[in-house]
Amino acid sequence: MAGATVAPVAEAPLDADALGMGREEMRRLGYWVVDSVVEHVASVASKPAIQARLPGDLLDWIGATLPVEGADALESLELLRDVVLENMQHGDHPRYFARVPGPSSFTGIVGDWIATGFNAITASWAGGSGPTTVELVVIEWLRTLLGMPAGTEGVLASGGSMANLLGLLVGSRERGHGVVYLSDQTHASITRDLLAIGFTPECVRVLSTDATCELSPDALRRSIEQDRSNGEVPILLVGNGGTTNTGTVDPLDALADIASDEGMWFHVDAAYGGPAALCEPGRARLAGLERADSVVLDPHKWLFQPYDIGCVLVRHPGALERTFSMSPEYLLDANRLSGEVDMRNRTLELTRPARALKLWLTLRVHGVERIASAIQRGIDLAETAESILSNDPRWIVVTPAQLGIVTFVGAGARDGDHAGAAAAVAERGFAAVTSTTLHGRSVLRLCTINPRTTEDDLQGTLDVLAEELARVSAG
Ligand SMILES: *Cc1c(COP(=O)(O)O)cnc(C)c1O
Repeated sequence: MAGATVAPVAEAPLDADALGMGREEMRRLGYWVVDSVVEHVASVASKPAIQARLPGDLLDWIGATLPVEGADALESLELLRDVVLENMQHGDHPRYFARVPGPSSFTGIVGDWIATGFNAITASWAGGSGPTTVELVVIEWLRTLLGMPAGTEGVLASGGSMANLLGLLVGSRERGHGVVYLSDQTHASITRDLLAIGFTPECVRVLSTDATCELSPDALRRSIEQDRSNGEVPILLVGNGGTTNTGTVDPLDALADIASDEGMWFHVDAAYGGPAALCEPGRARLAGLERADSVVLDPHKWLFQPYDIGCVLVRHPGALERTFSMSPEYLLDANRLSGEVDMRNRTLELTRPARALKLWLTLRVHGVERIASAIQRGIDLAETAESILSNDPRWIVVTPAQLGIVTFVGAGARDGDHAGAAAAVAERGFAAVTSTTLHGRSVLRLCTINPRTTEDDLQGTLDVLAEELARVSAG
């Protein structure tokens, strides 16, 4: 199991000329980093949820002079910790409700560190058989958790945007040229991905949604019918497995039926909501997801991983390699899980990190049940927020709590006031909340997927937000 041994040789130099350090120095810096991160994780709630500075100030503090001679390592690390890393969003803060939080777990953090420390690579089997196996295992776990059929393959990517790009590219290679359908609630990265892989705007149908924010199967059928009568070929359908705006899930079962009737590739963007399938209400909500041809999820959102890690799953064995293989003569093994896989042939990356290690460690250490209850907690928190909002005359709920997201407006607030109030709350540092636009109307939005968030955090944030909204509306 330990593999080959090597006869003892003199150790390679660890001196500064070889860009090395002695063991003591490595430990001194490494432990300092560990202590700083532990302190951050433990005390993040008492810091601002988000902080930004003026470009000129940051440049002054950080400095832009090319360092010809070296500087002190610890002093440089302090500059990173105390200036650089202070001025950003803390997606792991319990009152960070903006966009999509990044409540990374410590297991995910140390999993990432050990992969980085060993400079693990997952380009080829020969060069990374261990880390590749972990990636294949993690993909198999994700497939199982989403209920996709055996034989489904996948690959990790830097995030949802890139994973969507891979899935859409495979779909268009498998189905040829034609028209793609998506709703007006689909994430902006999908449209960008489609244009990047060669779709022209004339081939992209953006279907309007109603107050439910769901893609309507009837509207889809009508649009397809019209395109067919104009001689166009429908090839791709994009469904949402939890929109970023409102957490809405499209009627995936009905969409899967239409895609199969029409011979279209069905891609589901579950970058945000996919992990909700681990718990009962999420699984029920996402029914039909398992019928997709390709599914994207983002473990760096709701699977508690530090950036970056996204994933695409493709139900058709060999389809990823047909699209991305750089060695077309490569044999497609019958047994994809136990065979030798060169991950570079499933994606556009050649040199790629071992992103799977952190997720593998997190799942292995906590187990699916604990992770599922952490996800369930995020779903429950949004429901708690919704009930606080509906019992407070200062607020009106716009879309109910869905997969950890609730949207609302101030009673009597003008459209433009929400963004100002959200900015004022961020300025105070107490919490981070953002506004978004739904069907032309501005709304406030909470995304509550951090399991460390408490009910007091929700109540406190809504109180501060109401205060700032009243101030903005009066001013
Ligand atoms: C976040 C998100 C994306 C983009 O993912 P990145 O990891 O930010 O690239 C795509 N789709 C949805 C639904 C998302 O929530």
